[in-house]
Amino acid sequence: MTELLSNYLGGQWLNGNGAGTPLFDPVTGAELVRVDATGLDLAAGFAFAREQGGSALRAMTYQARGALLSAIVKVLQANRDAYYEIATANSGTVQTDSAVDIDGGIYTLGVYAKMGESLGARHFLVDGEATKLGKDPLFQSQHLLSPTRGVALFINAFNFPSWGLWEKAAPALLSGVPVIIKPATTTAWLTQRMVKDVVDAGVLPAGALSVICGSSAGLLDQLQPFDVLSFTGSADTAAVIRSHPAVTERSVRINIEADSINSALLLPGEGADSEAFGLFVKEVAREMTVKSGQKCTAIRRALVPEALYAAAAQAISARLAKTVVGNPRNETVRMGALVNRAQLNTAKEGLAYLSVQTETLHDGSATPLVDADAAVSCCMAPTLLGTRNAAGSDAADRVHDTEVFGPVATLVPYRDLAHALQLVRRGLGSLVCSLYGQDPHALAQAAGELADSHGRVHIISPDVAALQTGHGNVMPQSLHGGPGRAGGGEELGGQRALNFYHRRSAVQASTAVLSQLNPA
Ligand code: NAP
Repeated sequence: MTELLSNYLGGQWLNGNGAGTPLFDPVTGAELVRVDATGLDLAAGFAFAREQGGSALRAMTYQARGALLSAIVKVLQANRDAYYEIATANSGTVQTDSAVDIDGGIYTLGVYAKMGESLGARHFLVDGEATKLGKDPLFQSQHLLSPTRGVALFINAFNFPSWGLWEKAAPALLSGVPVIIKPATTTAWLTQRMVKDVVDAGVLPAGALSVICGSSAGLLDQLQPFDVLSFTGSADTAAVIRSHPAVTERSVRINIEADSINSALLLPGEGADSEAFGLFVKEVAREMTVKSGQKCTAIRRALVPEALYAAAAQAISARLAKTVVGNPRNETVRMGALVNRAQLNTAKEGLAYLSVQTETLHDGSATPLVDADAAVSCCMAPTLLGTRNAAGSDAADRVHDTEVFGPVATLVPYRDLAHALQLVRRGLGSLVCSLYGQDPHALAQAAGELADSHGRVHIISPDVAALQTGHGNVMPQSLHGGPGRAGGGEELGGQRALNFYHRRSAVQASTAVLSQLNPA
């Protein structure tokens, strides 16, 4: 029997009283550990976090809480090797893909730690300037942002067990709000281990950080009006959450990140020998293969002028052909596995579904896996599909509304810019769209056209080729989230991330009183 991972709730390490759900190595099929949350006293655990953790955190200033984040960074850095081992075993990722999750999480914490320093020794934030409410300027209104007196519950997806925790916990803890994390069961090990290291190091007040590994049963029932819930995962689960009484009756604030049919658009006017074309090809191939395409921000649709369809197909395929797929422990391997059998099957079904309306431009499945048994491992070779011509791009409705969560993208030819923008918008709201070209005016115009339906527009022009941070990389300084089918959420974006964990209130008073509100 493998080790049963404990939950940390109510300031104690607790084992569930069920048999446990096993976690597996997606390459070898070996059972690794088990998780179980059956029988935990959730009500007492949530109350402890809310009362003990919340009070202790709110008693500190932003600066002091920033120092807590710095302390977490030190603990995580000291244990990095163990995290890489867990990621290899449980997520089946190569080192560079594990880094996106592990070091990406640590970097995000560091950014918010610095922000805490700059916010200073205060207990709430002022929002905008004071505004007079009548002719006499003596009586004015000043908006305040105060930390919510509740817990932040995170229900997370399997693809980012580290970054997914810390990109949410950093702004929550900096805001003074205690965190309860429920990682996706499949990859809960890394999250649990990181929380364990931080708890064992004793750097946080009791109740500030808790972890529940296993079933989500009963978690939403615990939520009270001043709690907040941040969810990342499928649109189906998002719908269950939106209709829960915690949300519909108790006004629990929610943030949802669901699936997204992100696009990359090579602007008209670029030839197959242009620098912009080369950058487009490189980014599409990279996004398809990083984390085996299991990134919510990955490029799913790659749009090119109709005349460049064949050249783009050939160039992207040539790059994909070099992707060695297999066991991440082998140094020649560039792309590891999908996270489990269920995800592999779902991705294969999605590929078959898209194939009905597309042609296959590159199929890597004929190349044997390295050090991995195709019958056991969850490896999937990259596949590039295409809609053949502009009319095909219009007709292929599946391409615009199906997210295959794996190394699959579709090349989508368009007639002109208006057609391209219309096709991009058929994603009905996405996390990110990237644009490629060299005319700053044309790029800015296109960004303006697409900004309303995207959380982020990432522009790759030759002058920033070596500096740009990557279509799919979520930087803490920029907004992460997207309207419409992407869930309508807003995470990160620098200090904007703190808004979710604060309540906004208007204080109406004499200027003498208002001047006392802002101690800095
Ligand atoms: P999921 O089934 O929705 O699971 C996500 C999380 O919700 C997991 O922690 C899961 O716990 C939990 N959960 C499941 N049922 C629940 C319920 N009834 N009430 C409350 N929580 C519940 O999603 P998934 O299939 O693991 O994730 C894959 C999909 O998520 C992808 O296909 C992709 O579309 C989307 N995704 C989006 C983003 C993004 O940022 N936009 C990121 C990653 C993934 P268990 O694991 O214990 O079931």
